[in-house]
Amino acid sequence: ANERESMYLVSEFAQTHFAQMLWESELGKAIGLTYFKERGFTDETIRKFGLGYCLDQWDGFTNAALDKGYKLKYLEKTGLTIVKEDANNPNNPRKFDRFKGRVMFPIHSMSGRVLGFGGRILTNDKKAAKYLNSPESDIYHKSKVLYGIYYAKQSIAKEDNCYLVEGYTDVVQFHQRGIHNVVASSGTALTPEQIRLINRLTKNITVLFDGDAAGLRASLRGIDLILEQGMNVKVCTFPEGEDPDSFAKNNELEEITQYLEENSKDFIQFKASLLVKETANDPIKRADTVRDIVHSISKIPDRIQKEIYIQECAQIMNISEAVLFNTLAQISKKDI
Ligand code: ATP
Ligand code: MN
Ligand code: MN
Ligand code: MN
Repeated sequence: ANERESMYLVSEFAQTHFAQMLWESELGKAIGLTYFKERGFTDETIRKFGLGYCLDQWDGFTNAALDKGYKLKYLEKTGLTIVKEDANNPNNPRKFDRFKGRVMFPIHSMSGRVLGFGGRILTNDKKAAKYLNSPESDIYHKSKVLYGIYYAKQSIAKEDNCYLVEGYTDVVQFHQRGIHNVVASSGTALTPEQIRLINRLTKNITVLFDGDAAGLRASLRGIDLILEQGMNVKVCTFPEGEDPDSFAKNNELEEITQYLEENSKDFIQFKASLLVKETANDPIKRADTVRDIVHSISKIPDRIQKEIYIQECAQIMNISEAVLFNTLAQISKKDI
């Protein structure tokens, strides 16, 4: 038997089961569906993305799957069920639903198969993780998937641009508003494999950042990986405290597209300006930022583009082109 196929099948059963709980069980409707509605998701959107709810019971899902004949082995391998040996009862280990009490976002492959899930907690329990994802498995490699890629691929190719956001709800809310060329890295640092998925469809990425400075800072380095693949990168930030989800929830399509048009900036220019602002009164730190921006430029494969960016950054950072070219030469030597 094909183990991976068994894992796909149990994952697809889980998706169906969680959706059924959301739409048909009293608790699912009262808790899960109400939650999605409060976030502004329509029935159509909830169905399209196959969203669901895992009841707040220890093993409700696991038992339903076992009753249907799915094997515990695959429930465990996909991480849907957590199995704990019970010393008093060696033939009957204890089984727990990993996603107990969470609303469920199925994560699809490029071809639409369910690989895993992200589950969001509904309480304000600060000790529990807000989002819980399926563990790495033979079918779910988090560094190789992008949330929403199955629903976005056609539009990415057609629009010749891909919006990259942080979270599940950003993808879903944008879709509902009519912007379909959007995927999320879902909390993990961006990887070369994820970028390659997009690179096959378009050379243009616009990275949308949540409106919090910490997240922005942490994400900047990851963008060098996109430059490295010869792609054109723009970035767009949202007002403090907003993310693409909340912004899209509170604005009409026209306002959203206008905001994106007006605020999307070339990544290198954006980064250079940001670094200049941050180090206005500190020459030593400014020197570090010069190296930082040239490091990013060094990742761009195209030599003409590199040269143009050096000229641009010389102006933005008010430093001579010669120094930047020297720095570039030094960095390039080190990298070889
Ligand atoms: P919310 O549902 O509150 O709107 P969000 O999607 O805006 O959440 P962020 O805090 O902006 O969440 O984080 C972006 C993404 O990072 C999430 O969608 C999720 O994939 C991941 N993430 C966030 N918090 C956690 C966590 N505690 N554990 C694992 N992944 C997380
Ligand atoms: Mn965030
Ligand atoms: Mn967010
Ligand atoms: Mn959010």
